Amino acid sequence: MENKEDLYQKAQLRLTDYLEARRMRKTPERYEVLKTVCQMRDIFTIDQLADQMQEGASFCVSRSTLFNTLEIFAAAKLVIKHNLIRASLYECNIEPQPRACLVCEHCGMVRRLDKIEVTEYLSGIKARQFSVLQPVLYLHGTCRKCAMIMIRANSKKKKKS
Ligand SMILES: [Zn+2]
Repeated sequence: MENKEDLYQKAQLRLTDYLEARRMRKTPERYEVLKTVCQMRDIFTIDQLADQMQEGASFCVSRSTLFNTLEIFAAAKLVIKHNLIRASLYECNIEPQPRACLVCEHCGMVRRLDKIEVTEYLSGIKARQFSVLQPVLYLHGTCRKCAMIMIRANSKKKKKS
């Protein structure tokens, strides 16, 4: 694991290459957002990123700037955008690796499943007439919190009847 500083250095170079190649502006906002993205440990929402920006960044950016910047980062493959039914979530992708995500069907929680065997399996997948660039696997189900709520609701129903 590299530290956050090294990660940001790497990300910064890749963003600069991407923007220069497309003659896009290298605004300080874009780099500030990138720095904050590098600090995000897990999958995050745009709200969580905005909160983190408020705490640590040297200036504030509007929500629409955040959204647009994340779109650029996703196109530049600096972040992964998880387009799920309930929301769009993002994840730092400066060092791309196969990933599996647990998605709760009830509350929308999304969490990384860090299991070596899954990562190895995903990186070994080959498909005919298709080149896999970014192996991402979604496992839909019920999180523990929602399962507990359902069990409690069911037992209340049983008591009443
Ligand atoms: Zn849940």
